[in-house]
Amino acid sequence: MLGLTLREVSLALREGKISPKQLCQRCLDFVKKTRFLNAYITVTEDLALEQAEKAEKRFTRGESLGPLDGIPIAVKDNFSTAGIETTCASHMLRGYNPPFNATVVQKLLDQGAVLIGKTNLDEFAMGSASIDGVFGPVRNPWGYSTQYRDKCAQTSGGRNPDSDWVITGGSSGGSATAVASLTCFASLGSDTGGSTRNPAAHCGIVGLKPTYGLLSRHGLIPLVNSMDVPGILTRSVDDAAIVLDILQGYDAKDSTTVQGPVTQINLPADIDLKNICVGIPKEYHAPGLSGETLSQWSRAAELFAQAGAQVVSVSLPHTQHSIVCYSVLCAAEVASNMARFDGLEYGHCSKINSSTEAMFASTRHEGFNDVVRGRILCGNYFLLKKNYDQYFVKAQKVRRLIANDFAKVFDSGVDVLLTPVTLSDAARYTDFVQEDSRTRSAQEDIFTQPINMAGLPAVSVPVALSSKSLPISLQLIGQAFQDQKLLTVARWLEQQVKFPAIEFPHMNDHLMEVPTMNTSAIAV
Ligand code: GLN
Repeated sequence: MLGLTLREVSLALREGKISPKQLCQRCLDFVKKTRFLNAYITVTEDLALEQAEKAEKRFTRGESLGPLDGIPIAVKDNFSTAGIETTCASHMLRGYNPPFNATVVQKLLDQGAVLIGKTNLDEFAMGSASIDGVFGPVRNPWGYSTQYRDKCAQTSGGRNPDSDWVITGGSSGGSATAVASLTCFASLGSDTGGSTRNPAAHCGIVGLKPTYGLLSRHGLIPLVNSMDVPGILTRSVDDAAIVLDILQGYDAKDSTTVQGPVTQINLPADIDLKNICVGIPKEYHAPGLSGETLSQWSRAAELFAQAGAQVVSVSLPHTQHSIVCYSVLCAAEVASNMARFDGLEYGHCSKINSSTEAMFASTRHEGFNDVVRGRILCGNYFLLKKNYDQYFVKAQKVRRLIANDFAKVFDSGVDVLLTPVTLSDAARYTDFVQEDSRTRSAQEDIFTQPINMAGLPAVSVPVALSSKSLPISLQLIGQAFQDQKLLTVARWLEQQVKFPAIEFPHMNDHLMEVPTMNTSAIAV
């Protein structure tokens, strides 16, 4: 049951093959079995069982709230959840229990979804590996799969799960791992520069970044307000469409959501690819792109061409400036957003209070990790009066050029762009941190950040396993507010590539083999 898609399990619930309470209990059991992956910060067991009980009562009365009724879901711990601790994986917000639900969370609950827990992330969603939060790193479930084990046994004579574990991508690594390790059927992530698509890609699931403005950001603790969107992580494209349809729409509490009625997301059964033009941006042949990712990218382009789609090479000439441009804009908005955490109005308050300045300084030193502090410092530097035009204004202009590149390509008749999501399959943790992990993190986002700067929809679809048996995924990018067309093309690709399901050894045994974890790394 746990490996089914959301649509399939929803049907199973309605047909009475399993009850909401049983399903919830199985998911909770699996959360315990896979605890070593560190996907969850908070497991909301009692609440989940209560919500499942309510769903069960509706089902026995022959009622249903819709496709999400009774379905276990998880939510990234940077979405506010009423009465449930919301930490952003930071000391700054330890013990913060928001008095309200984020709009997207409320919409899921209104549809009868069962909240299993809040998921782990990089502190304040800054990162690409889910290794920089105060609750410790998230581990990639594929590193524990039968497929990966078998490969390691063949190639390196066995493996050591403690030192050999694989990163999950980030920053929504907990949300991706929660879905990929079969503890829930959908999860919410956030996507500012790739944080939904990147971990989805490394965990072999679907990660959707909707068009900016289609979903409310109210209650999503901001990273970069002009780029943040709630992301959707599921096991299939079809499931992502179900969740998107529920979440989309105007919210009076978020003035950046588009006004007016939205069209219902309802993927057509068939797509005639003869009417579709797929663009391949030549600048995305980036240095560091792995041979395997490149060959999967070519294979997918060929599949489209064989099915009658027009496949054309296109140019997005300002791509090369994207990482620098994003870094400046992100730091500037971070510096401004994080100013509220001063120990008085919001967040942790230091006991050092010899002066107000000393209190502010130690509050922010104790509350934030060095990644967050580094971005605040850079952002404040870029925003200094003497630097403002040279950095912030210039980056805004470059952002416009990046967005215009996409607009020109779509105006020329391209329907979707096909690109990689990441440079390669997921790295082992030890390899990832051996290099300068911040540079590596920034490089990881090369294919995803430009889309946030342009506000476009994009989706990550797993297409194959690498020679190490880790997922390789591709990204499809659509025109603004053409999320339905994007998902329709993505579902076609998904159906062609037939990505394998994850298999765990001893999945049905009472206890999965649990590797011991070095808990000293967890600075809680
Ligand atoms: N990796 C990017 C960053 O650290 C993106 C983060 C995100 O999308 N939340 O800024």
